[in-house]
Amino acid sequence: MKSTKILASIITAATLACGLLAAAVPAVAQTYDVVILNGRVMDPETNFDAVRNVGIKDGRIVTVTTDKIAGKKAIDATGHVVAPGFIDLHAHGQNIGDYRMQAMQGVTTMLELESGILPIGEWYDAQSKKNLPINYGAAAAWTYGRIATFTGTPPKATAKYFQDVQGRSDWKMNIATPEQQAQILKYVEQGLDEGAIGIGINAGYAPGYGNKEYFALAKLAAERDVATFTHFRYASNMEPQSSFQAVQELIANAAITGAHMHICHINSSSLKDIDAVLELVNDAFERDINITVGAYPWGAASTVIGAAMFTGEGWQERMGSKASNFQLGTKRMTEEQVEDYQKNQPGTFIVWHFLDESNPDDLALLDKSILHPRILIESDEMFWMFMDDHDRVINYEGDAWPLPENTFSHPRSNGTFAKILRSYVRERKLMTMQEALRKMALMPAQTLEGFVPQMKKKGRLQEGMDADIVVFDPEKISDVGTYEKPAQPAVGVQSLLVNGQLVVAEGALILDAGPGRPIRRDVSKRR
Ligand SMILES: [Zn+2]
Repeated sequence: MKSTKILASIITAATLACGLLAAAVPAVAQTYDVVILNGRVMDPETNFDAVRNVGIKDGRIVTVTTDKIAGKKAIDATGHVVAPGFIDLHAHGQNIGDYRMQAMQGVTTMLELESGILPIGEWYDAQSKKNLPINYGAAAAWTYGRIATFTGTPPKATAKYFQDVQGRSDWKMNIATPEQQAQILKYVEQGLDEGAIGIGINAGYAPGYGNKEYFALAKLAAERDVATFTHFRYASNMEPQSSFQAVQELIANAAITGAHMHICHINSSSLKDIDAVLELVNDAFERDINITVGAYPWGAASTVIGAAMFTGEGWQERMGSKASNFQLGTKRMTEEQVEDYQKNQPGTFIVWHFLDESNPDDLALLDKSILHPRILIESDEMFWMFMDDHDRVINYEGDAWPLPENTFSHPRSNGTFAKILRSYVRERKLMTMQEALRKMALMPAQTLEGFVPQMKKKGRLQEGMDADIVVFDPEKISDVGTYEKPAQPAVGVQSLLVNGQLVVAEGALILDAGPGRPIRRDVSKRR
């Protein structure tokens, strides 16, 4: 016994001596894969904010230190913020250009949770072959289950599957029979079995569903311990069938079933009735009802022109919109154009202006969503598209970089996170930098980590966390794309690391870098 003890203490002493030696000769000990030196390191969970060096190895943050450290690659972050990469819970684009535009504004994880997609297994397989620069994932799409059930066409994991049925109204407006409802839920369940991140309930696109169907979805989410992500129905400030009513319905289902229900883009779905809608949300928070909420900082939305909210008796009045509120490509539309596209190409993505940000009253409404301490930032990123010779809008699937000049999208697709840092933090000083990071990195991770364990290691800049890191210049970071000229990447991100690998270096995209990994629930936990 005695000799073992002595031996152990000799070993301990030797180890200590080695440790000291290694620390004293940092030039020899190139311990790290990447080091980020002298940056303003910020962590929104611990409120840490100080100049430090960050050492990264095997995709993880290994040290945050004042010590001198060295690695195979060194990034000088002097004068820059070093923060956890932004996590976008709400993004629709599926092509490499979509992910690249997001990387350029500091996003390291981009998830399709609002619409979702089906079949989930097929989608993850397809994404894994695209050499994506950032992490990806999706929810199980209730609308796809509805489309499949009403049309008899099994789901395909593409946006086209959704766009092509915009001219049909049954899946949007009909109440499902009990048999149909069971079939819809079966499709959703299969998605969950294949590892989907919760249930995407794009209710605004199929607002004719029955109350029992939505309740059943909430119940399913509670049983399976996942969240739902809802674009709530109606989008109207006039009762009945108002935004207010739809939020009330969502909160009721969360309260009754105990399901975690996320409200997507409360800013746009509330139109101008944000005060009344926020009253509901605040009261729900006060009673600890399990809801979370997201918003994006723009006065315009983007969707298909044949969407249910743009149809039916008096829709223009209900939406407070004329043709000039609509934008096709980069130009405002005429009445004739709106009519023509709604009739002949209802699956066409357009931009729809509902608030005028240059009007202080409208901007104040938008700010109420963005500045609310319980509301996180999500982009609602849209596909990058182009118009062909027949005035048809086509999703851009190519891998040209920069994106071709004739491509367009809503500027939120490449500017949401950069705009928060430019407008809300730097120019208007309405939000602290740490608060912005909390809303753009930590809160999204916290929203998912209860049922997606991978997210516990994201959204934080701490030792042991995933090395998903953005290094940006707080004086320069800006959204550059506009409604008229959207295809301009954000500026000011100096470096972006995803799983410890550089995706952006010295402000430029590394084209062959594909370290993005799937974010997915454990597939082995099938029923
Ligand atoms: Zn939406």
